[in-house]
Amino acid sequence: MHSKNNELNLLLVKYQKISLLNKIIAILDWDTNVNLPPNASEGRARQIALLTEELADLWLDKEFKSAFEKAKESKKLTEVETAIIRNLDRAAKYYFKVPKEIIVEKAQTTSEAFMIWQKAKQENKFKDFLPILKRIIKLNQIIADHLGYRKNRYDALLDLYEPELVAETASKIFTTLQPKLTQLLKKIQKSKGYFETSPLIEAEPTYPQQDQKQLLSFIIKKMNYDLDSGRIDTSSHPFETVLDRHDIRITTRYNLKDFRESFYSAMHEAGHALYEQGINPDYSETPLENGTSYAIHESQSRFWENQIGRNPNFIEYIAPLFQAFYPEQLKDSGAPTLIKLFNQVRPGFIRTEADEVTYNLHIILRFELENDLLNNKLDPADLPQIWNIKMKKYLGVTPPSDSKGVLQDVHWSYGYFGYFPTYCLGNLYAAQITASIKKEIDIDKILKSGELGTILSWLKEHIHQHGSLYLPQKLITDISGEQLNPDFFIEYLNQKYSQIYDF
Ligand code: MG
Repeated sequence: MHSKNNELNLLLVKYQKISLLNKIIAILDWDTNVNLPPNASEGRARQIALLTEELADLWLDKEFKSAFEKAKESKKLTEVETAIIRNLDRAAKYYFKVPKEIIVEKAQTTSEAFMIWQKAKQENKFKDFLPILKRIIKLNQIIADHLGYRKNRYDALLDLYEPELVAETASKIFTTLQPKLTQLLKKIQKSKGYFETSPLIEAEPTYPQQDQKQLLSFIIKKMNYDLDSGRIDTSSHPFETVLDRHDIRITTRYNLKDFRESFYSAMHEAGHALYEQGINPDYSETPLENGTSYAIHESQSRFWENQIGRNPNFIEYIAPLFQAFYPEQLKDSGAPTLIKLFNQVRPGFIRTEADEVTYNLHIILRFELENDLLNNKLDPADLPQIWNIKMKKYLGVTPPSDSKGVLQDVHWSYGYFGYFPTYCLGNLYAAQITASIKKEIDIDKILKSGELGTILSWLKEHIHQHGSLYLPQKLITDISGEQLNPDFFIEYLNQKYSQIYDF
């Protein structure tokens, strides 16, 4: 990319190094998650730490900073140039405002915390995690104070993951959502169609990995994920990563007793990958090169996983394929059974295993706790107790242990405060986007024939190609004519699940 503005050109040249270094770090991260022998983790941490410091130095480079200050004052910038400055401003803020020693202290504390968390979770000992968790919360408070905020300290952290998001807005959305979700869950549990277990999962027969692999390979090709510019591997936590414009990778995991898991996690991660593969190539290695926010990114993965993958019409199309791969296991289970199985709703303890109806309740709980922790309204020592009270209130279940309760997620050990809400917003955006697509395309009809290309073209035109050119609120307003509105999601759930569960 070239600009008529000299400062901006210098910035773009300098940014390209940042972009490349980020991708080199991402390759190491990918390798850590996919291939690393157990004894190599310490050495790998040192390698990543070195490059992370190099990265901080690139951001703090004097020439870069002064070109940035001058470029910010330029007048008559184009739309693209304005977005470049805005995105750089957001990304650089962390390095410019937070003292380097705090950044380093946080990196050290969180890498230590990960090991402590892992052991505490294994041994179900929250007390062992508590001291370092307190330090992480304190560091996040210090960082928030350096970054600055208007009303709520938590806002400064939310903004790191989701531009423009403040706690007040999130809280307003979540307070509307929570009672409606809890109410819908109760309706489903009381319905005729409710079931706790199915003989098709968590029992004999099992589903060979090779078959699962072929099935998901079929589906990601069907989605038009370009495997000449990507690949799929196995890792314990599925993810998507961008190593280059032509190297956008995904991972999945296999559960031999539950064939749904690899299939839907592949659709989810491929949804993230399609977003990145669809971005305007001109934006490559510039501050516009990635998806615009965590929530919009998650809207794309959730769109493919849930709005498409769990759509009854699509399951009708795909059911014969499942039966062809698992002829013995699914011999009496046609589309009607699979529609129910793939849309099973059951309140559980674990967020990552949650269904569409209960998932956001897990997020709302975490948002409320983070907000209170950051504002010193909750003593971290009381977390397990408050966690369980909220689980009972929102989901009607009480975790049998802290491992399956407050210790389940890795995020706090990484120091990620403010990340969780983007998962919920992603689900809400996906429903709102689907409603917009339905105004132009008869999704249900084309899904019956497995035709996915038209849908991808729509997403590419309205969302993917823009990369980070537009902020989330502008993007969703351009698409749907209004700001993020949780009613779309509630309506979608009520309509779908009243049919499936017959109430
Ligand atoms: Mg995701």
